[in-house]
Amino acid sequence: MRKNIAVLKGDGIGPEIVDQAILVLDAIAKKYGHEFVYTEVDIGGCSIDKHGVPITEEGMAMCKASDSVLLGAVGGPKWDGVDPSIRPEKALLAVRKELGLFANLRPTKLFAQLADASPLKDSVVGDGIDLMIVRELTGGIYFGKRRTEVVEGEKVATDEMTYSEHEVERIGRVAFETARKRGKRVASVDKANVLDSSRLWRAVMHRLAEEYPDVAYSDILVDNTAMQLIKNPGQFDVIVTENMFGDILSDEASMLTGSIGMMPSASLSSTTLGMYEPIHGSAPDIAGMDLANPIGTIMSAAMMLRYSFDMIEEADAIEAAVNKVLDDGYRTADIWKEGFRKVGCAEMGAAVAARL
Ligand code: NAD
Repeated sequence: MRKNIAVLKGDGIGPEIVDQAILVLDAIAKKYGHEFVYTEVDIGGCSIDKHGVPITEEGMAMCKASDSVLLGAVGGPKWDGVDPSIRPEKALLAVRKELGLFANLRPTKLFAQLADASPLKDSVVGDGIDLMIVRELTGGIYFGKRRTEVVEGEKVATDEMTYSEHEVERIGRVAFETARKRGKRVASVDKANVLDSSRLWRAVMHRLAEEYPDVAYSDILVDNTAMQLIKNPGQFDVIVTENMFGDILSDEASMLTGSIGMMPSASLSSTTLGMYEPIHGSAPDIAGMDLANPIGTIMSAAMMLRYSFDMIEEADAIEAAVNKVLDDGYRTADIWKEGFRKVGCAEMGAAVAARL
């Protein structure tokens, strides 16, 4: 199969980690007879420096015309002072919007080899953590109307949280379909005891649950979810929730695994076009030092194969290669401890590619 991939390396450690993911994709192409064609697009601070904007119109058009987008990370202190209208993150929001990326999938997996990196006790981690957060990405309070006004002599600020039935239904379907391919359980997170938008969310999810009798469905309030993730994370398979709750819970969940450098993510649209990126930022403190962990980006490339290209065997092969590398004792600095082989970003990427 021939696939066009828009490659957005971005800033900080972005280029280093994306290069390792490409090395791994090339190994897959060779092994399975595919052709991956990469088109580089500037994004974030490097694009501001070159073009004066965090992504150009041509760059955006290239993303839209591609089969999928692979992203490193954007931003850094150099661009903290730029005008808010052209901040590096603006490009991310623009790509999400232009590509209609409404579903954010964040797997949270504690690798058995790194179990002691989790801040949770062994007795809590139990048989491991392997859950998927499905976060709605283009609705809710981040996209609602906002205003600050003066009322009776003081400033009053308002942010509106809005959801329509079709927005809830399409993210719900992603969650149920994802659960069918995993542990067949969906927990829908809301605040239906207080919010109207949550009551609508819950009603739509209940309707959908009837269409998926093979998937066990439950409702859970967001505050309880925050507690349960710490108390008994093994109870969850797929968690589906709205934009802001998902933003907060997915960061909480990622910490249960001990290292931000290991975690991938996928942002999906209603077509097969998606954007794949590690969950961390551009890590300016270690940029250019060959210290970054590329596994989050490599696992993001595996998600690209799985969700955008339907290359399930190939995705499984990457995940198995990562497991093998960890079994073989390779550790980047963020996950290293005494007795293991400390490697840099490039050596870690090469080790994964070699096992394919
Ligand atoms: P960060 O995720 O970049 O870094 C947090 C800490 O984790 C740092 O100590 C860093 O060294 C470490 N870290 C991150 N990724 C790592 C990896 N792969 N391997 C080893 N260690 C890793 O978060 P931050 O420091 O808050 O943000 C830095 C910049 O990144 C900011 O400009 C921020 O706006 C931007 N950012 C971008 C994205 C994105 O592009 N999606 C996301 C978050 C933050």
